[in-house]
Amino acid sequence: MTVGIVGAGQLGRMMALAGYPLGLDFLFLDPADAPPAAQLAPLLKRAFTDDEALRSLAERCEVVTIDWENVSVAALRKLRRQTRVSPPPAAIATAQDRVSEKRLFEKLGIATTRWRAVSTRRQLDAAVRAIGLPGVLKTRRMGYDGKGQSVLRTAADVERAWLQLGQVPLLYEELVPFDLEVSVIGVRGRRGECQVYPLNHNLHSSGILRLTRAPFGTARLNRLAQNHVQAVMEHFRYVGVLTIEFFVRGGRLVANEMAPRVHNSGHWTIEGAVTSQFENHLRAILGLPLGDARARGYSAMINLIGTMPARAGVLRHAGVHLHDYAKEPRPGRKLGHLTVVEDSAERCERRARALLAELAPEVHIP
Ligand code: AMP
Repeated sequence: MTVGIVGAGQLGRMMALAGYPLGLDFLFLDPADAPPAAQLAPLLKRAFTDDEALRSLAERCEVVTIDWENVSVAALRKLRRQTRVSPPPAAIATAQDRVSEKRLFEKLGIATTRWRAVSTRRQLDAAVRAIGLPGVLKTRRMGYDGKGQSVLRTAADVERAWLQLGQVPLLYEELVPFDLEVSVIGVRGRRGECQVYPLNHNLHSSGILRLTRAPFGTARLNRLAQNHVQAVMEHFRYVGVLTIEFFVRGGRLVANEMAPRVHNSGHWTIEGAVTSQFENHLRAILGLPLGDARARGYSAMINLIGTMPARAGVLRHAGVHLHDYAKEPRPGRKLGHLTVVEDSAERCERRARALLAELAPEVHIP
């Protein structure tokens, strides 16, 4: 049974690594030269919209999924006439546009930031007047890892941010003075059955995720997040893994964005949960029974960004799980991650701090 994956990055690579023990095969579509997943499975090295390549995927695969949400929704809709595509293209279309995402959160009663769509300089001035400073100007599409966004603190920043980003449709929103950031990962199967992982506590720097700790938060906060992710999954009759990122302020959840896919903040589930997010995504899209999403202990996941530490230096730490995505080093690029799982939150925290101090001393845990 072959699973087609549009995008052959590290998420696709980890899906394949989770699928081989289940006896699955994989076929990737990606225009890149040597993407991380190509080490593991055949690659159709073509554009994401290439008709012939899409036809091959449809003919050869039981189901097609994505490892990156900025793929062509039109191409996925076309593919859907020939084979099963999960998650639903409508969910991917919503996640591609920050304005559609905000409207969906509001429609479902999920608190989000105050925002305005901005396409002209006059609309930006009006948005800044309505929402105030400080705020964040973001591109509506194609933003990730803090790219395509600019923080506005003073009136002088308005012009600078407009010059930087004004060529494309934008969204202006309040800068949330959050206490912390969390994410919730849910999975929904073909018959509507769901599993939700415990909350992830995420630490970003320069817009990039650096550290995730899980499970996190009170039962109340977990329940709230669980209700929100379930509401979004029900709305789309979603099949597969879905992630929502939130700011937490005064015990309240404020939705930031959603990702219609497995998520960096869920990498700890490979070793730290009964069933990983990658395996559960595959189970869901293939119509197999979902696995238990409970944590096995307390996990910390550290992203390795820009340069990879020496393998031996990482592995001399007992119990550390190293994941190297086989990518060319480049500043700001996610190259790998490591996970530790401990039986107490305190011990996990101590280990995370020691590992960060050694491997990423620039990251400061508050
Ligand atoms: P995003 O690409 O929207 O997930 O933004 C990346 C990171 O930038 C978030 O995880 C936050 O750390 C920060 N950020 C983005 N938007 C806001 C906001 N409105 N208020 C405060 N921090 C934000």
